Amino acid sequence: MFCPKCGTANPEESNFCMKCGTRLRSGVTEEFNVAASELISKIGELIKEGNVTHIIIKNEQGKVLLELPATVFIVGAILAPWMAAIGAIAALATRCQVIVERSA
Ligand SMILES: [Zn+2]
Repeated sequence: MFCPKCGTANPEESNFCMKCGTRLRSGVTEEFNVAASELISKIGELIKEGNVTHIIIKNEQGKVLLELPATVFIVGAILAPWMAAIGAIAALATRCQVIVERSA
């Protein structure tokens, strides 16, 4: 699947462009600008609300720092290591952009 924005060829199952993060599929996407200190609680909150299929965390420069695949949300047990990774990002950043995709 080619990104409509930058033209990068992505794997067919991709929801977002690997290069620029543009959404490739339909669904409901929300963006939040979150202080790094609130990153873990914000993501925990989003997951609790349900229907989340994809979360991308970007830094202030728009670089993708972490992408949480759908399987993370289905199997809650493997969430812990991801939360540790999110904590590591939060320790380095000041503000993050959180992009959330939910199933419609
Ligand atoms: Zn792209």
